[in-house]
Amino acid sequence: MRIGDAARLIGVPTHVLRHWDDMGVVSPSRTPSGHREYDEEQVRRLRVLRACQEVGLSLGEIRLVLHRDEAGRAQVIEERLSRIRAQRERLADAESFLEHVRTCRHDLLTRCPSCSRFADEG
Ligand SMILES: [Zn+2]
Repeated sequence: MRIGDAARLIGVPTHVLRHWDDMGVVSPSRTPSGHREYDEEQVRRLRVLRACQEVGLSLGEIRLVLHRDEAGRAQVIEERLSRIRAQRERLADAESFLEHVRTCRHDLLTRCPSCSRFADEG
């Protein structure tokens, strides 16, 4: 399919797909007139790429992740997993803090041990 259709399908502007092509992440073939032509496999790659970006992976990291034989791949994945787990912990802390604040009866948050504990952890 043409770049416009692929971009619509993935939900990104066409310049993003051209950039990914220039970076060698997903490089479609060209029609005789020079238009990019994406096949099914490449569209699947584009979807994976988009999903990876949405969870905060950089283009460099994604390139490593998409190539099974790439050196350093395991390390990139491990690092990203630790970052995701750390983020999840911070989000869980924020969630319990907000749930507490919703019903906190102290007039000043600084006088509440539960509220202060959250500030210390953050
Ligand atoms: Zn409180």
